[in-house]
Amino acid sequence: MLCPFCASDDTRVIDSRPVDSGSAIRRRRVCESCGLRFTTYERADVPLIVRKRDGRLEPFEVDKVRSGMSHALADRPVDDQVKEQMVRAIRSEAEDHGRIVTSDDIGRAVLEQLAAVDHVAYLRFASVYKEFEGPGDFERELAELQRRGDG
Ligand SMILES: [Zn+2]
Repeated sequence: MLCPFCASDDTRVIDSRPVDSGSAIRRRRVCESCGLRFTTYERADVPLIVRKRDGRLEPFEVDKVRSGMSHALADRPVDDQVKEQMVRAIRSEAEDHGRIVTSDDIGRAVLEQLAAVDHVAYLRFASVYKEFEGPGDFERELAELQRRGDG
């Protein structure tokens, strides 16, 4: 482990303890060259798995969330920074489901984010995600947005 301050490889572990209910190890290290201390975490690299509607499993890819959202947000006045915050919130929501999350759970998390940020994008995404079949579906979703109190 190289020192992040001076890039020396002469670093030493001075403290090591389990964190996050034992799912990770936190290590305090000191650099023998510059004397500065830093922390590292070791945790198992277990991928998050998505169960699709047809039952297939695939690894969670944040790029898919980003691209699904970017279709809905095309030409909408939403900052890239806000979009990235939404992507992070969706990933964190997905991780809360444990090791396997369903594509429906992810879709709901995307809708939650869009509902708070842009109603046009919300309706675009909902029309695909909820497989809208007619104008009645849009009216139902508009009513839902208004019930949330921010429409
Ligand atoms: Zn150093």
